[in-house]
This record gives sequence, C-alpha cells and structure tokens, in this order.
Amino acid sequence: MKTEAVTLADAPAQPAVADATMGKITLVGIGPGHAEHMTARARAAIAEADVVVGYVTYIKLVADLLEGKEVVRKGMTEELDRAVSALAAARSGKKVALISSGDAGVYGMAGPTYEVLFQAGWTPEEDLEVEIVPGTSALNACAALVGAPLTHDFCAISLSDLLTPWPVIARRLDAVAMADFVVALYNPKSGRRTRQIVEAQRLLLRHRRPDTPVALVKSAYRRRQHIELRTLATMCEADIGMLSTVLIGNSHTYVQHGLMVTPRGYANKYDLDGDGAAREGERPGRSLSSGLAGWLENLVADHAAGASVAHLAARHGLPADYIAATLAEPEACAEEGPAP
Ligand code: SAH
Repeated sequence: MKTEAVTLADAPAQPAVADATMGKITLVGIGPGHAEHMTARARAAIAEADVVVGYVTYIKLVADLLEGKEVVRKGMTEELDRAVSALAAARSGKKVALISSGDAGVYGMAGPTYEVLFQAGWTPEEDLEVEIVPGTSALNACAALVGAPLTHDFCAISLSDLLTPWPVIARRLDAVAMADFVVALYNPKSGRRTRQIVEAQRLLLRHRRPDTPVALVKSAYRRRQHIELRTLATMCEADIGMLSTVLIGNSHTYVQHGLMVTPRGYANKYDLDGDGAAREGERPGRSLSSGLAGWLENLVADHAAGASVAHLAARHGLPADYIAATLAEPEACAEEGPAP
C-alpha cells in the first residue's frame, strides 16, 4: 500500500504546448456491483478508454472490456492519488476511465477529481474533456431490495469521520432526525470505526420511535448480499460492515409482508379505506387543503382571531420570523397556478 501523502499541490501543471490528441477523464459509476446493473453508457465509456483505473473488485466486473488497455488496479489508497494520475495520463493525450462503485458523484471520485483539476488550472475550455457517467447509487440499489423506503423525502449521511469532523456529522444526524427524513447511512461501520453507528442510533432515538423500521443491506447485488429488517432500537445488533448501507424510516414508514414502505401521502388526500374518492375539501391535481395556500389562509384567519406569532410558530413547529414574514405578505403565497 502506498503510504506517502498526495496533496492537491501534486497535480501536474498544464503543459505549455497542448498535445495533438485530446485527452479525456471519464468518471464512470458502475452501479452496486453486478454487471446487469451497469448502464450501457458506463460499459461504452470503459470500452472507449485507453487507461482504466479502479479497485480490483470493480476491474474484475468489466474484465471483458479491458483487452489492450492499460489497467491500473488500485487498493484503498487516497482518492487524490488516483485523480492526480488520471490527470497526468489525460494531459498526455490518453482517455482515462476512473471506475467508481455506485455513482461517482455520491461519496465518490467526482468531487476530488474536480478539486485536483481546478488546482491544476484546468478549465472546461481546455482540450481535456471530463465526463461523468451516472450510476445507480447504493441507496437506490438497497432501497429496491427492501421495498419502497425512499418514496418520500430522504437524505444521505456518511458516518465516515476520515475527512469530516464528528460534530458536523452529529449535527446533521440530529437535524434530519428532527425533520423526519428517511435517512440512508453510507459508510456506517468498518473494522476501526465501530462506535459511529451507535452514536447515530442514540441521536436518532431522541426524535424517533424505537420501533422505527430500519433496513440493513450488505453487499447489495453482490455475491455476499445480506439483508436484515430491524428496528431503530436493535439495528446495531445487525451484521454491518464496510459494504453496508443502512436505511432508516421516517415516522410513517412501516413493514408489511417483509417489505419496508414509506407512504407517499395518498392517504392525506384520498379515502383509501373506503371508496378511494378524494377526501372532503381535497381535489385531485391540486395542493392539499393543508398545502401552502390552504395553510396560509388558516394562518391568517387564526392570527386575525388573536393567535400570536409565537403561538402559531409553536403550533406549526416553524420559526417565528418565518411566520411573521409570511403573515406580512400573505397574498404572495395565496394564489395557486393553473392545475398541471
Ligand atoms: N459511490 C458509491 C458510494 C461510495 S461510499 C455509491 O454511489 O453507492 C462507500 C459506501 O457505499 C459503503 O460504505 C456502503 O455504505 C455503500 N455501498 C457501496 N456499494 C454497496 C453495496 N453494493 N451494497 C450496500 N452498500 C453499498
């Protein structure tokens, strides 16, 4: 394993004379790890490359495309190292494919590569093209295996503190727990990082019920795929590792027939237990009666009837200055556009 640190300053300088052949860096997201979940563009981008750089496991997945190519099999070295060598090769006129699992823009190589490029003085006008080929990220893959956990607002948080201070991670966990997002935890645990997931659980339990459904998916679409459905209270007892993603439900998420589902909200509008008709006061294709316009109408009425800004703020769980600003110009929000 390479030990010396590579920094942004190691990025190769722009050549004085541009090469005749135009180099290219393609960041290829190859999906969760099964060839069938790789896009056609990902395969084509790898086929077009002169040099392919990536982890051994991913290189193996595209073995049939590698004939005649320079292949750089990387271990768990720093990403900057890979970006710097990709830039050097591209500036010598080669087409370089940097392979990433999932999507290269989700906790992947896309960010570090642009950072190295900018540091090296690259601009989009330069004769060095950069393409990002999107891929199925772990949260999409894991969600598909356990039901429909992400069908309402969700967010992703990485528990890796290798480059992010713990208070930053903890603050985000606290904020999304409070805001009732479904949460996808990336990098939940490794051999050395075992406590972070326990701390995450502790922060989430401050706002969420212990029986909140949690799906723990290890090695999705890979040989050792392993899925466990648990609750927030017991999630840390699951088999969690470097290749696990943890999906934590919101306050409406439930498990039925072994499937984890987060409702889209149809029950707010339609009588799903009865004849399926729109509920009283609700109209198909229009915002809910408690949507922005309807909510605001009630807010103005309550305020006119004597409810204070502080009281309304507490009732709706919103900042008082937001309530005050909204009440100051209610006509700006009251009008709804034409039905879609
Ligand atoms: N770019 C990748 C994420 C890289 S970070 C993507 O978009 O998916 C590495 C983390 O991704 C792992 O710790 C794990 O949380 C998640 N991950 C990657 N592949 C996975 C898989 N096949 N199954 C479950 N989780 C996976």
